[in-house]
Parts: sequence; structure tokens; C-alpha cells
Amino acid sequence: MCKAANALKANGIQKGDRVCFYMPMVPELAIGVLACARIGAVHSVVFAGFSANSLADRIKDATCKMVICSDYNDRGAKHIIVKDVVDEALAMGCDSIETVLVHRNTGGKISWHEGRDKWWHEAVDHQPAACPAEPMDAEDMLFILYTSGSTGKPKGVVHTCGGYMVFTCYTFQNVFQYEDGDIYWCTADIGWVTGHSYIVYGPLLAGATTVMFEGVPTYPNASRFWQVCEKLRVTQFYTAPTAIRALMAHGDQYVEGFDLSSIKVLGSVGEPINEEAWRWYDQKVGKGRAPIVDTWWQTETGGILISPLPGITEPKPCFATNPLPGVQPCLLDQEGREIEGNDVEGLLCIKFPWPSILRTTYGDHERCRQTYFAPFDNYYFTGDGARRDADGMYRIIGRVDDVINVSGHRLGTAEIENAINTHPQVVESAVVGYPHDIKGQGIYAYVITGAPVADDNTFRHEILDAVTKVIGPIAKPDKIQIVSGLPKTRSGKIMRRILRKVASGETSNLGDVSTLLNPEVVDEIMDGALND
Ligand code: AMP
Repeated sequence: MCKAANALKANGIQKGDRVCFYMPMVPELAIGVLACARIGAVHSVVFAGFSANSLADRIKDATCKMVICSDYNDRGAKHIIVKDVVDEALAMGCDSIETVLVHRNTGGKISWHEGRDKWWHEAVDHQPAACPAEPMDAEDMLFILYTSGSTGKPKGVVHTCGGYMVFTCYTFQNVFQYEDGDIYWCTADIGWVTGHSYIVYGPLLAGATTVMFEGVPTYPNASRFWQVCEKLRVTQFYTAPTAIRALMAHGDQYVEGFDLSSIKVLGSVGEPINEEAWRWYDQKVGKGRAPIVDTWWQTETGGILISPLPGITEPKPCFATNPLPGVQPCLLDQEGREIEGNDVEGLLCIKFPWPSILRTTYGDHERCRQTYFAPFDNYYFTGDGARRDADGMYRIIGRVDDVINVSGHRLGTAEIENAINTHPQVVESAVVGYPHDIKGQGIYAYVITGAPVADDNTFRHEILDAVTKVIGPIAKPDKIQIVSGLPKTRSGKIMRRILRKVASGETSNLGDVSTLLNPEVVDEIMDGALND
């Protein structure tokens, strides 16, 4: 890591400079991130599934000086030329980039820009093995991580050195009850906050052994996770409900027969876990012996805020249960009044700051205030709805804003609409989430075209290509319905409530549609609904 830190310095990176990472789950990603922290540079990791457009937007927003990438990403059976995506992004006006450090992952053929591109091994290997740590203020920036919201482009959530590190270490130790000699494995990608906080910072600050996995849970088959758990004698295993559901769907034979007796704690993160998946995880993986910690938190919270503590909290399927010590959640009604008592539902807010609360959104502090602190005076607004049951335990229901959670990936519906609207034949579109057996939420797009489309199938493929190009394959709609109009209020606002219900297969109980400008489109939309 110190060698990499020296290589960054030798290539002109100084305290405060932004370095962008775009690579698969290789050790060099964690090494590079830590090398930045060592010299006070700010890392901005971009998930390697995002498109060149998305990467370029993030590089420009943070005016990064360097990109660190891999040559290729072997993802399951796919061979993705990562370096090509970087080249494409940099051709989109990323003028701040001076150097691209390329890590040789597969050794496949790539294009090369003399003067700008350098091999990681040539830059790093010969460096001195010691690099003094840069003295940092607790409030100096540690990293930027882009995340989607209801409006506009993704924003760069900023975390700082002191509070973030204290809180990720504290929550890691307590939520996972890590003990010396344990082998902890979080299956997330470092491109998301879970990877930052609970693969890199939390575990390493606690001196833990943390596993990094480059691959997918179903390749070469659906036993991959359990093989690794058995082989490494994993003691704490942390994954997302979407992975659990996908593995469950493959059948029990893929988990049976593996020795998973080393597992002491099972974690879930990223989206609400349904009861069937919770019970399967508990019985088939934990054999009823390993407490499940359903951890609720967000990119903005930096670390886990609501979670059971293994061995202390009575487990309750699908409940994130209780706030961690010091965290003060509350439920508000639409008018911003606190809902007291138990057995109630409302908008989840946090009353007082905690150490790893986001500090700003990069380059736009006002946007941070508007998004999180303006909706309700003196509260941090999470964007989630939650229920507090008779025992005072929290169950997270899901987003109450125009953000959807697809396989644990957070996407703004407006972002997807903007991508769809780049298709020349599209006049307008509206995207909503609907319940999906594996992904948690699927993406349902209603699209208005200027003229009738000649070939439906070709048109749908073009829409998928447009979304892949603008955002990345993770944002591709599962269903595209071509409509002649969208239900709108007299002030011209799309009535998403109706679109969500139709997408969810609910055709009765649509509520009052008489106030719509164009109530007739509702029947048309219902008739053409793509429900399985
Ligand atoms: P991200 O910032 O990408 O990690 O996404 C955060 C969002 O994921 C939250 O606002 C929730 O909607 C959802 N989420 C995260 N953890 C949980 C959980 N344990 N239960 C339910 N939803 C969750």
C-alpha cells in the first residue's frame, strides 16, 4: 500500500486531489483506496458496471486528476474491456485527468495512450516500501461516493476522515461481533458504500481479516459462496437479499452438503429482506444457529444505524430492529410531526447527527441541505418509510421518494427516464419500480413515442441500449409499455401513484382519477399492462 501511495505522489497526486477508481474486485482496488487515504488524496470509486457516460460525469463533477483502472474484468463468463470504457469516458471532455494507471488483471489486449497511460506494476513495484502518513484533520475529506436521488444527476456524497473511520470501526466490531482469528466476508462490491465501509475501512480499522471476492454468486454454479465459506472457514458472512433470493431459486442442493459450521453471524444489507428469504438464510445457511443481522443504513449515513446485535437482540424476521447506541431514529408524518408510540408507520428520520453523517454533496452544499435537511426542520430525512412495531422495533418498508432499489442498487427514476428520452423516437417516459421476485424491485417504463414504432422488438432493444449507454446495464428496464399518454394532474404532474399500481398488477383500487387531466389514458394503460 505504501508503494502505491508513493507511486501516486510520483505521479503528481497530492493531499486533496481526487483520484477516480474504475476496476473490478481486485486487491489493487483496496490497496489504491488505502494509498489515497495514506497521502490525503480523495478517492472516488465508480462501480465498474457503470457506463462510460456515467464514469465521465463523475470524473468531471469531482475534477479528478487520475483514473486507476484494470485492463479487463472477468465477470462470471463475461470478459469486459474495462480500459475501453475508461478511454471512451476520457474522450468525453474529462480534461482534468493527467494520468491513467492501468492494473494488469487478465493481460488481454488493450489500447494505449502514450504519455497518459501507465502500468500499475511499473509505477508501483519499484517504489520505496515506506510512506509517511499525511497528517489529516478529522474533518478533511476522505472520499466521494456518487449515489442516486429523486432528481438530477447522482450526487457525490462526501465522508470525512475522523467520524467515518470511528463509526465504521465501531459498528463493524459490534454488529458482527468480530473476534481475533475470525474470517469475515462481505460479498458487496467496493463500488458501493457497503464495500467501502464493511470490506475496506471498518474491518481493516478493527484489524480484522476481510475477504475480497472477484466474481458472481452463480458462477460457475450457485454453490460458489458456500464453497468459499467452507474453504476459508468464514465466521461472519454479509450479503444482500437479492443474492439470497437468487441462490434460493436455484434450489437447496447448491447449499446442502457444505460445511458451514464456522459461520457465527449472517448479515443482510441493501434492501428489505422478505420473510421467505430470511427463513431460508436462517435455516439453510445458518442452520438456525447463526443470528441474522438485518442492517439498515445508506451511502449518506456512512455506517450501520439500525441493526440487531447478535446474541443480544431477539431476532425478528425482516426487522432491522433497534438503533445502535447513540442513534436516534423517529417517524414523521407528511406534515413533519413526530409520530409517538408504537405500532405506527411513517417517514424515517434521524434526530441527531452521528459520527459518519455525510458532510456535504461535492461541489454543491445547498443540494445537500435541500435533499436531506430541508424536508423537515432539524431532522435528517432518509427517504425511507418505516414501521415501528408493538415492541418498538423498526422494519424498513422502502423508499418513499422517486428512488428505486434494484438488486440492492439504488437508481433514480428520473435518471432512467432521461436515458430513455435520449432515443429520438421517445417523446416522454415515466419509470416506476414494481415488486420483483429476485431483484426486489424491477424497472417498469411507460414510453410515449412520436409516431407508431415500426417494429416493437427492435424499438425495445434500442431503449435498452440507450439506457445501457447512458447509465449502465444495471438500469435496463425489465418491462417497457408503449402508451399514448401518461396520467397527469391538471398542473401537468405525472400521477406516479397510478403508474406504480398498474406496474404492480393492481388494477382495482386505483384511487381517485377524476382530478386527472386525461382520465381516459388510465384504461388504456391498464389494458396494455405487462403483468406476468
Ligand atoms: P445505498 O445508499 O445505495 O446503500 O442505499 C440505501 C437504501 O437501501 C436505503 O435508503 C434503503 O432504502 C435501502 N436499504 C439499505 N439497507 C436496508 C435494509 N437492511 N432493509 C431495508 N432497506 C435497506
